[in-house]
Amino acid sequence: MTLELGGEFCLVCGAEPPLFGDRMCEPCLRKRIHLVKVPENVPWVRCARCGIVEIQGKWVLISEEEIWDELIQRHVVFHKDAENIGLAHESRTVSDRHTLLHLQVEGTIEGLSFKEEHTMRARMANGVCLTCTRRAGNYFEATVQLRSTGRRLSEDEFTDLRITLDKVMEEMADDPMFFITSEGPVTGGYDIVLGNKGLARTWGRHLVSEYGGHIAESNTVAGRKDGVDVTRLTLLYRKPGYEIGDVLRWRDKLWRAASWTKEGAIMSRIDRQERTGASWRDLESANVMTQMGEHNIVDLITQDASVGEFLDPSTWQMTSVRLPWDYLKTRPLRVTQVEGEWVALHHLGCDEKEAKVKK
Ligand SMILES: [Zn+2]
Ligand SMILES: [Zn+2]
Repeated sequence: MTLELGGEFCLVCGAEPPLFGDRMCEPCLRKRIHLVKVPENVPWVRCARCGIVEIQGKWVLISEEEIWDELIQRHVVFHKDAENIGLAHESRTVSDRHTLLHLQVEGTIEGLSFKEEHTMRARMANGVCLTCTRRAGNYFEATVQLRSTGRRLSEDEFTDLRITLDKVMEEMADDPMFFITSEGPVTGGYDIVLGNKGLARTWGRHLVSEYGGHIAESNTVAGRKDGVDVTRLTLLYRKPGYEIGDVLRWRDKLWRAASWTKEGAIMSRIDRQERTGASWRDLESANVMTQMGEHNIVDLITQDASVGEFLDPSTWQMTSVRLPWDYLKTRPLRVTQVEGEWVALHHLGCDEKEAKVKK
């Protein structure tokens, strides 16, 4: 046998061209290279408590189909020269923990087309995610205390406030630390203990922008971990228990809340013409005596310069009341009973709005 010097031949079997790759004929090349490398077994971890899955150190909520896609993407390695790649897979559940992934791959290497079938076994291991670990340990970072000023809120009103947390959690990005450790009614309010300070603060801002009032924030040191103080946050939110038009006892006088300001409300005095701005904090000492919906509109039967008489709508007794400082004969008279005494109220813009709504 003579070898032509300089002539090309397969390095493995000596066959003549065409040669591919590192100078091999097609049969030799096909024996030595594969389109993909597929490990036999691949592990993955699912939280035994809540079912979320660990993907490269992160716990995420994904579907089984997405788990298989992720495992294939991470573990199936294509030949570096592969082109025109196609991959299809089918999963078959073998047991609680084992799933077989049948892979059909195709592609070309140096213009030669390859088709291969492989099987990979996905093996699930139980773990416990960070959230469940912390939940199990009653982990918490923040407490939000819902309270009120002016009057005690009803249970329904606290429920409405509480529901806004669910909305805030839906709108925020998925963070496994956004969980509620515990919650429940307490005297005069409702407390919610949360796994994350950021969540507590976001909710607090939402409450203030939605309902007014303000937040008092305090931090306590709960201990030290890795040389750093572990602090816990307490947010005390007081929802104003009054609306525009309500009658409040404040600084020993009766007032009506006339309008909101950024920091509180404009208060309008009932027994004489006086208006003053009050901050939310100022108003913490206010008590709601009667709400708008409890007021009565009455017709005067007799009147002189300062006193009018009307029929008490609950007893139908003739009753007298001091006329408000802005009394106008042409305007309906708004009265309310404060601690057993009838009080006539001066007029506010909100009274007209209410009258229109009633019609
Ligand atoms: Zn060969
Ligand atoms: Zn979990």
